[in-house]
Amino acid sequence: MSKIAVFPGSFDPITIGHLDIVLRALQIFDEIHIAIGENSQKNYYFALEKRIKMVQQVFEGQKNVYVNAYVGLTVDFCKTINATYIVRGLRSSSDFEYEKNIAQLNQSLANIETIFYVSQPQYSHINSTIVREILRNKGDISKFVPAQIINLI
Ligand code: ADP
Repeated sequence: MSKIAVFPGSFDPITIGHLDIVLRALQIFDEIHIAIGENSQKNYYFALEKRIKMVQQVFEGQKNVYVNAYVGLTVDFCKTINATYIVRGLRSSSDFEYEKNIAQLNQSLANIETIFYVSQPQYSHINSTIVREILRNKGDISKFVPAQIINLI
């Protein structure tokens, strides 16, 4: 049976930290479905279509990586594609505290296991919030995002 994992997130925008997690997860899973969440309560910097396009551009030609958008519970999205794993990244202990509850909920709700990847040290300070802050202030984000999306930003 193939091992199918969902990597959910906002990807607002995708960073080299996200990219690293996907590449590492590909060593274990047969398919990684990047699931871009659209939550009406959240104010995104980039519209959903743009976030999708950026992720697609990064993984263009990459076998076994799929890009989807979803609304609602991540576990419900997992069921639609027969995924039994969720992949998340951990940058810090505060990430862990937050993620632990969600992972336990998803396990009890739908028997879906969350597999955590600890961020590599050189990426642990990188997140989409920082990239957005640099963009708002017209700074240079090229060190923090995959080269393939620079032309889209
Ligand atoms: P969310 O709004 O769901 O946190 P994000 O797009 O910010 O969505 O993050 C998606 C996932 O990627 C999360 O599990 C997050 O911890 C992980 N992630 C983000 N940046 C990094 C990084 N630099 N290193 C490792 N994991 C990361």
